[in-house]
Amino acid sequence: DLAEDPHLRRGPRGFPLLPGGYGRSTYYTGAPSPYAIRGEGYRVWDDRGRELIDANNNFTSLIHGNAHPEITEAATKALSSGASWGIPNLYEWDLADLLLSRLPDLDQVRFTNSGTEAVMSAIRIARASTGRERVVVTKGGYHGTSEVALVPGGPSYTRGVTQGVIDDVTAVPLNDIQFLRQAVEAAPDAYAAIILDLLPNRAGLLSISEDFVREARDLATRFGIVLIIDEVISLRLGYNGLSGEYGVAPDLLTTGKLIGGGFAVGAVVGRAELMAEVDPTRPGSLPHGGTFSGNPVSMAAGAAALRLYPHEEVQRLNRLGDTTREAVQSKIAEAGWEIRGRGSLLRAVPGGAEKVSEDIQHRLWWASYERGLLGSPANLLSLSTPMNEHVAADIAERLADAVLAVAGSAEA
Ligand code: PMP
Repeated sequence: DLAEDPHLRRGPRGFPLLPGGYGRSTYYTGAPSPYAIRGEGYRVWDDRGRELIDANNNFTSLIHGNAHPEITEAATKALSSGASWGIPNLYEWDLADLLLSRLPDLDQVRFTNSGTEAVMSAIRIARASTGRERVVVTKGGYHGTSEVALVPGGPSYTRGVTQGVIDDVTAVPLNDIQFLRQAVEAAPDAYAAIILDLLPNRAGLLSISEDFVREARDLATRFGIVLIIDEVISLRLGYNGLSGEYGVAPDLLTTGKLIGGGFAVGAVVGRAELMAEVDPTRPGSLPHGGTFSGNPVSMAAGAAALRLYPHEEVQRLNRLGDTTREAVQSKIAEAGWEIRGRGSLLRAVPGGAEKVSEDIQHRLWWASYERGLLGSPANLLSLSTPMNEHVAADIAERLADAVLAVAGSAEA
């Protein structure tokens, strides 16, 4: 019953049906959350009667906003023939083809159900092919919730993770080339992979420098380490992904979010000699499955989403992000805040901040919400293709207003 506040619903033994009242820990914004009721284009309506500009877009997945007619049609058409099967389907080949046409340095795709699974599988492929165990990550980065992926988040992320897993990971400070080089050169034969998110939101949405990426690429090539670029979020930033914009070819690329058109998805895309690790026709290949991996609904919706996001749309949305950032920056500078990001991704932070307290993140989330703007709890905003300059200007105004309210109350 949607009319009832779900927070009040208790099970037979008196507990809320979901731990803390939440189905995802990443929804949490410090106070009971509103519930989404309906979405259309760039707007979402909630159970408190608010109409919101959706710049959360399910954590950047909805590149075409809510309920895009062509994506809905593609998903519905696939679903009407059966939600999933236990033998391969043809939709998977279509999405793989579309993805590889955008990633010309890579050869093959293996779909998963989430970005978390994609990163987890990529790490295992790298370890299996190199026969090594250690992994380099950048400090503060987020790569999902597999055990290795939690380590760069530090001690608050790694409760329940074994010391052995933690010891296998070297977390390099963002853009510290010297640190990276020394760590790898000290034990090059120990490293299986270097994993990079080129625009890590949890690390403050600061870009990884081109020099740092080039150094990582050089070290990987020199020492036979697998370079994994995690484009679960950043794929939207260039027609050939953000690695394409940098002009750096990964050995494995992980992605997800937008390539499922709003449905559950992830993918490992890689060079053929590495992807051979999950080729079941080869004796001794790695076990990889997933009951819903490559399901026709995610694949059909994802293919529609990629077809609706050609080069010109990527560029248009990136430019829209530029104008939004410019408009916000001019309004929040006097309060000592700054706007960060690239292309269609943006985030306001207190000036110079590398780590923003959860309290500030939550206050900005609520201040934005009260002004009709829906962001992510970590304040990442993403634009979607139904948006135009008017919507972008509206976002800029609401965000700037929210920032000024938070900055003002923090000083008070
Ligand atoms: N990698 C990155 C860079 C991400 O941002 C995320 C999720 N935001 C993931 C991996 C995990 O993806 P998922 O939530 O689909 O498991």
